[in-house]
Amino acid sequence: MMDIERDKAREIWLKDKQHFLHPWTHFESFKKAGSLVIESGAGCYVHDINGNRYLDGIGGLWCVNVGYGREEIIEAIAHQARDLAFYNPFTDTTNIPASLLAERLANLAPENIDHVFFSLGGSTAIDTAFRLIQFYQNCRGKPEKRHMISRREAYHGSTYIAMSLGGKKGDRVPEFEYKTDAIHHISCPNLYRRPNHMSEVQFCDSLVQEFENKIAEIGPQNVAAFFAEPIMGAGGVIVPPEGYLARLWEICRTNDILFVADEVVTAFGRLGEIFASQSVFGIKPDIITCAKGLTSGYQPLGATLLSKEIYDTISSDNPDRVFAHGFTYSGHPVACAAALENIDILEREKICQYVRDDAGPYFIEKLSELKDLPIVGDVRGMHFMACIENVADKETKALFPDSVDVGKMISDHAEKLGLIVRPIGHLNILSPPLVMTREQIDFAVDALRESILRTVEDLSKSGDYSSKAYV
Ligand code: PLP
Repeated sequence: MMDIERDKAREIWLKDKQHFLHPWTHFESFKKAGSLVIESGAGCYVHDINGNRYLDGIGGLWCVNVGYGREEIIEAIAHQARDLAFYNPFTDTTNIPASLLAERLANLAPENIDHVFFSLGGSTAIDTAFRLIQFYQNCRGKPEKRHMISRREAYHGSTYIAMSLGGKKGDRVPEFEYKTDAIHHISCPNLYRRPNHMSEVQFCDSLVQEFENKIAEIGPQNVAAFFAEPIMGAGGVIVPPEGYLARLWEICRTNDILFVADEVVTAFGRLGEIFASQSVFGIKPDIITCAKGLTSGYQPLGATLLSKEIYDTISSDNPDRVFAHGFTYSGHPVACAAALENIDILEREKICQYVRDDAGPYFIEKLSELKDLPIVGDVRGMHFMACIENVADKETKALFPDSVDVGKMISDHAEKLGLIVRPIGHLNILSPPLVMTREQIDFAVDALRESILRTVEDLSKSGDYSSKAYV
């Protein structure tokens, strides 16, 4: 790298450090190290501004499903921007890609779904779901149905409401306020952390019972909706026990409670299906939220899909009613054009089948080999959603102290070896582009193995870990 290029790279790094307040900044470490500046991407790889190449184990952030540098999407974006960069979608104007995409999503979703509201990403899709539920319950004359149930360790985004629905302890920092009135949290269905004496079936029964108890406590007549990611993502890739989601969905139906499936991560191929709710878990939610893989990250876009029953209720019987909700960029034509092309690619290249029948099972099988490592307590996931849970003691499942930041130690080593993985506390999360080959999967797992071993070595040297118990 020439000096002049190096100077330019440093200048950009510095500008970022001095002026960009990043999402989820940890100020102390950011002030020391600044950012990794990513400059370009191709396929499953990204390059930083210093010319280093990385295999992107996190697909941007659970989203670049069809990989980087897709000429078809780039062309669709350019073509649409030339034709019509923007026109507002309020009340009774629309644009061609938005209307085509609404129909396309309604057709791809379970058959009870037939309308789509567009937003800017996952958080605004969740916010929209929340407001839509309030609106619906009021329209049908049930204003007392205003309580929402969510789960601990859930992540639903970062607007005020999305964050209040979320249940990750670490996200609830004392400097922010959260809506607590009428939002309730039940347990996370984490099999690895279930009580020792419980079988998977008993654990599932206990979670179902807890849900029923919570509804009884609030009063079913007061409960509006239940929000759930089919597989929790940022909460640690929590694959629920067999039958859990279907049982909770049935309870919602029995008690006139709407079921919101937050498929921001799970949709568009990550679990081998366009939508996972019905195809993977056998449930037909009343509302599905999605974003991320909808455009593979090529444009910001979210969508809240709603049932015919909800649409018919809110749109009938009161001629003066206005759905007073929406964003300037709802149904943005360029974003919708990107989504249409992205879905074309998923279908044309049979990417869901590839994930479901080939690469997805291989990915989880290979990652599971890491379970032999001394600090790997659990490897879990489904297809292209995976998590490694690192522990100080495999027997007791005790964690390292937070100050050790073991996930970050591992991801730092991985970065040096040319792999990006995401640290969340003691976890490392993987959500690669869905076009990752078996060779690339092998590389990722080898790099992870080496990164974890190097971390064990570092921890042993610093006295934070004694491997004696495992020799
Ligand atoms: N819902 C889930 C399940 C998510 O994982 C995320 C983001 O990671 C969101 C909602 C929020 O999406 P966004 O960051 O696009 O607002």
